[in-house]
Amino acid sequence: MKKFEDKDILFIINPNSGHKKSKKIAEKISGLGISYVITANETELEKVFEENIENFKIFIVAGGDGTVNEAIKYLYNRNDKLLGIFPAGSGDGFARELGFKKNIKSLICDAKKGDFLFIDLLSINNNLCINIAGIGFDSYVAHNFQKKEKRGLKSYISTVIKAVFSFKPFNAEINIGNEKITEKLQMITIANTGQFGNNAIISPQSKPNDNFFELVLVKPFPFFIYPVFVFRLFFGLLKNSKYMKFIKVKDKLEIKTDFNLYHTDGERKSFEKELFAEMLQNKMRIMKTKHCKL
Ligand SMILES: [Mg+2]
Repeated sequence: MKKFEDKDILFIINPNSGHKKSKKIAEKISGLGISYVITANETELEKVFEENIENFKIFIVAGGDGTVNEAIKYLYNRNDKLLGIFPAGSGDGFARELGFKKNIKSLICDAKKGDFLFIDLLSINNNLCINIAGIGFDSYVAHNFQKKEKRGLKSYISTVIKAVFSFKPFNAEINIGNEKITEKLQMITIANTGQFGNNAIISPQSKPNDNFFELVLVKPFPFFIYPVFVFRLFFGLLKNSKYMKFIKVKDKLEIKTDFNLYHTDGERKSFEKELFAEMLQNKMRIMKTKHCKL
């Protein structure tokens, strides 16, 4: 049974994402009779949504987590729209968690079926976040990675290795309801889904549709533990690490720290004094593909 037709779908291609294959993607899409636009920046993306939001029902973005993060600004709280993803970024954390594959034909076929999931979002200092936000080592990496001209996995790995040598742990005070945690930490992750991208799984138990988010505290660890940490990260085995603490959060938390760089879905940001994280339950409708395990 098909709920939607070709004319209900709009592809939005971000050529600035990790892969420079936007022309190829565009050719394939137009060959299949589906509408598409190529947007070079956030302003263009805003204009595309302004002009097209009422003309289409399914918006499929070809890009990475950053592009998905931009798109949710226009689609959250819209119970008559669906978001789909053609993974074309450097990490594709959210797309991977939801089982989106790089197959345009099959993606369009699934889109027309109209199956979808309600997904939670996070509000981090009033910025929407669909995948993962964090303070510490990963935000330090995100800040350094964004400065690089070359994107892609190789460039990302070299950024991470350099950060291992230069990053220092920081003090944090975290308030969750009546509970207060004061600790020296390497990293604080606020997880809506389990992974950063490239199947690096920081919070194996996180699901974007369970109305909870996970606070993951990573304690400072000796230098020689890094390879073990990375191994466990990529095999989803961090759950039992003695350097990790996982806290399930229902509604909100507040973090005060002397390290003020953070990221939402890999996009770097900074805060003055506090960081507020809040759960926004069932805010987004994401199209479901046949590969989705949620
Ligand atoms: Mg969750």
